[in-house]
Amino acid sequence: MKIRILGAESLGVRGLACIVELRQRKIFIDPGIALGWSRYGFLPHPFQIAIGSEIKQQIVRELQMVDDVIISHFDGDHCPLLNANPYQLSLDVVKSSLKNCRILARGLERSSVVQQRRRNDIAEATGCEVINAEGREIEFGAFSFPVTHGPPDRADNFVMMSRISEAGETFVHASDIQLIDSGTIDKILSWKPDRVLVSGPPLYHYTQPSHLGLRQSALQNARRLADSVAELIIDHHLLRSEEGIRWLESLKKEFDNRILSAAEYMGREPIYLEAWRKELYRWLPVRAGEDDEFIEEKTDFCNYRLQGWNVLIERGKIKPCRWYYSCPIRRYTESGKLERYWIENYCLVGNKNCKRFQLEEKGEYHPDNMLPDGQIKGDL
Ligand code: SF4
Ligand SMILES: [Zn+2]
Repeated sequence: MKIRILGAESLGVRGLACIVELRQRKIFIDPGIALGWSRYGFLPHPFQIAIGSEIKQQIVRELQMVDDVIISHFDGDHCPLLNANPYQLSLDVVKSSLKNCRILARGLERSSVVQQRRRNDIAEATGCEVINAEGREIEFGAFSFPVTHGPPDRADNFVMMSRISEAGETFVHASDIQLIDSGTIDKILSWKPDRVLVSGPPLYHYTQPSHLGLRQSALQNARRLADSVAELIIDHHLLRSEEGIRWLESLKKEFDNRILSAAEYMGREPIYLEAWRKELYRWLPVRAGEDDEFIEEKTDFCNYRLQGWNVLIERGKIKPCRWYYSCPIRRYTESGKLERYWIENYCLVGNKNCKRFQLEEKGEYHPDNMLPDGQIKGDL
């Protein structure tokens, strides 16, 4: 089983978009993305918009080749939308891909009116049945009955968790549970997972003394999971603030087994662009008058994209691969022969999964035209 996380806060955007590749099937869980409309009084920075746009394109490409799409719930950062804002994934763009998939999703009951409408939008746009998967077993796993989306304070705010198993290995995807409810953690543990991807608590919302209990529950539940699961990936709500980033770092120190952010699981340096939004505006100021134009996409995103990466390096927020300055992949990119995908997903974020990096470290020969994923590109 191969798991790839495409979108999450540690990768620069909101969501928990995740691909699971089995021997015979490819599954996409939560194909959605958002940027957080306003944080600290700021709209998304153009660098974050540029990163979000790249991840959105990756989601669109991957959706063209999947067998199953699982939707844990119908919040805008977890599914395509009919009325997507410019930072989200438009249903129009992906509806033809969705027509070729089996769509397994959270049901209508105990769902808000907005979520029900979004579910119906997908069914109508694709002409396909959106199967209510709650509580069901299927050939590669099972789905939970609805569990609470964070604190149990609303009767229409629930999510569905997925268990996927193959060859004695079990993965659980648990969007937006925020580690608050102990019964939900019992359910995850009953599935005996080897690996869990879960949303951590939104500490940036828990600022009042009355939230202390929620904070304590989240920490206790995180420890319970970490005690039993070999690989625990905590991301999403937790990593929208510096405090959340510190919370995760401190939890990691308590456990010998692996606790990771999504970016770390993917072998790369995290880029917490929402948590850093205020600083981004200071480090890379936005030109006067442009802040009204983001939504219309008139801004020079290409320029902000280039400068944004430089700023993160200068500020010590990321450390590029140690071979970056001598690597032919950098030269090819700068001369326009390669798209920036490779350096932004490997070189600039020190991605240890790079095949070139691994061979370089072992001192083994590899040709200049080998890409970071090991493909040989004949026309370089
Ligand atoms: S291609 Fe690989 S080895 Fe070269 S700089 Fe990028 S990550 Fe490092
Ligand atoms: Zn979410």
